[in-house]
Amino acid sequence: MVTLMGWVNSFRDHGSVLFVHLRDREGITQVIFDENHNLELLTRGKQARAEYVLAVTGKCVLRDEKNYNPNMATGEVEIIAEELKVLNDCQTPPFEIDNCKASEELRLKYRYLDLRRPEMQSNFRLRHQLALAARRVLDEEGFYEIETPILTKSTPEGARDYLVPSRTSPGKFFALPQSPQLFKQLLMIAGYERYFQIARCFRDEDLRADRQMEFTQIDLEMSFVQPDDVFNVIEPLICEFFKVVGIEPPARPFPRMSYKEAMNRYGSDKPDLRFGLEFVDLSAQFEGGAFTVFAEAVKKGGVVKGIVVPGAAQWSRKHFDEILELAKRYGAPGLAYVQVLEGESKSSLAKFLGTDGINALIKTAGAKAGDAILMIGGKWDVVCTSLGAVRLEVSRRENLIDENEYRLLWVVDFPMFEYHDDDKRWYAMHHPFTSPIDEDLDKLEGGDLGSVRAKAYDLVFNGNELGGGSIRIHRSDVQAKVFKALGLTEEEAREKFGFFLDALSYGTPPHGGIALGLDRIVMLFAKAKSLREVIAFPKVASGSDLMTDSPSAVTPEQLAELKIKTLV
Ligand code: ASP
Repeated sequence: MVTLMGWVNSFRDHGSVLFVHLRDREGITQVIFDENHNLELLTRGKQARAEYVLAVTGKCVLRDEKNYNPNMATGEVEIIAEELKVLNDCQTPPFEIDNCKASEELRLKYRYLDLRRPEMQSNFRLRHQLALAARRVLDEEGFYEIETPILTKSTPEGARDYLVPSRTSPGKFFALPQSPQLFKQLLMIAGYERYFQIARCFRDEDLRADRQMEFTQIDLEMSFVQPDDVFNVIEPLICEFFKVVGIEPPARPFPRMSYKEAMNRYGSDKPDLRFGLEFVDLSAQFEGGAFTVFAEAVKKGGVVKGIVVPGAAQWSRKHFDEILELAKRYGAPGLAYVQVLEGESKSSLAKFLGTDGINALIKTAGAKAGDAILMIGGKWDVVCTSLGAVRLEVSRRENLIDENEYRLLWVVDFPMFEYHDDDKRWYAMHHPFTSPIDEDLDKLEGGDLGSVRAKAYDLVFNGNELGGGSIRIHRSDVQAKVFKALGLTEEEAREKFGFFLDALSYGTPPHGGIALGLDRIVMLFAKAKSLREVIAFPKVASGSDLMTDSPSAVTPEQLAELKIKTLV
């Protein structure tokens, strides 16, 4: 005899026999109520409806072979019910749990029902297994798991802070951490040598499809290390994740590519290496030539780059126009193309370059009949970024991505600073605690900030950034110089990070670390379509939680206690 407890997934009433599919976390089992066996039980069983909670005791028997159900893990057995307890009834659910066709809004409003679905349960089982694997590997590597505060003074990670008003210090606010960055560095100063945390981070950003304002990082920090030491912890960790999902782990060491090379060859600091379409530099072909748009771009220090797309010689005009529109959205001034055909090729550039010029272009680009060369000319960064977007779009349209391929790489030597044209100032590309590379230290004062490289690295997986980190500044004089380069006065730096600058002056060991996005890792390994499929209670794009209906108004008393007046 066995007793199963679970939810009625579905039922089929055949009059004298009732089949109930009972579902629990492990799966579904068929239970049979049979008139010949127990009429009273059958009658009671017939009262059960979808999602009722039952406890059924009965004999587990082999089914007749002809009734095997290959679609169910338990498809060769069934339970002949002997006893039944209805542990609870259930209102008619707003959507079917089995075979759910509900909109995402409805699923999120009734998230607790949505989470009953086997697909979701499998995502959260995987999430648990991956987090557990991370803890296991990091424990074996000598890391301590240490929690850092949620109510804090936040670290700048480039996003807006969530603020929490303080009742006891009216008019003052805590910030929710954008990451535990400063605290993990303080733990290194405190001598803990290896720290990790599966940490919740908060960033008040407009949500995009692949972002949540509240998310989880596998965050770690190590003392006395170089980037290689960090890679030597992270690579086995990632390989362990592959083992958890039963996929052959990638070869180690993972390849490395500088930021510059990644941009130059793929137009992205997170290049997807599952397909080619590598950029070819065609600047020399246009330099001083009759096609003045490109010639001018090269003269001004810019570049002309192209990609060769197999099969695209046959694309329609409309198709090329759509790609042009995309390139423009990324700032490209235009997009030129050559359709390479047997014999004569077609291009609007022919009148500028002549047949010989076009043939030379085809040869340099390495194109063959049937291909098209798509080209963008202009400033280096604009060309790289827009052609990078084109490369990705083409890979999708042409189905160039093998979903069963896994390509990891480290992108290294990031620029330390990036210039924002809108407010005309320099920002830290990672965060201001990242160490510049030693040779570039001199450029912090008076030099060209754009050319300062950082000891920063990102881990990239199939075109997704899985995480990033850096070796940190461990000297207060260097930290002060970086703050200055970022336009912070000494007073501002002291006001914001005085405690940290003080700490740096008390014997800080060289240290570095990284944070990996756990949500994204689970999403990729689960092959889920969005982060919302792997976060138990996520927010929607407008930033609200449809189930709890938050954010929500609070009472005037609550606000008065905080000495806060709202303007809306
Ligand atoms: N704190 C950084 C981030 O959240 C990661 C790191 O540098 O370790 O992106």
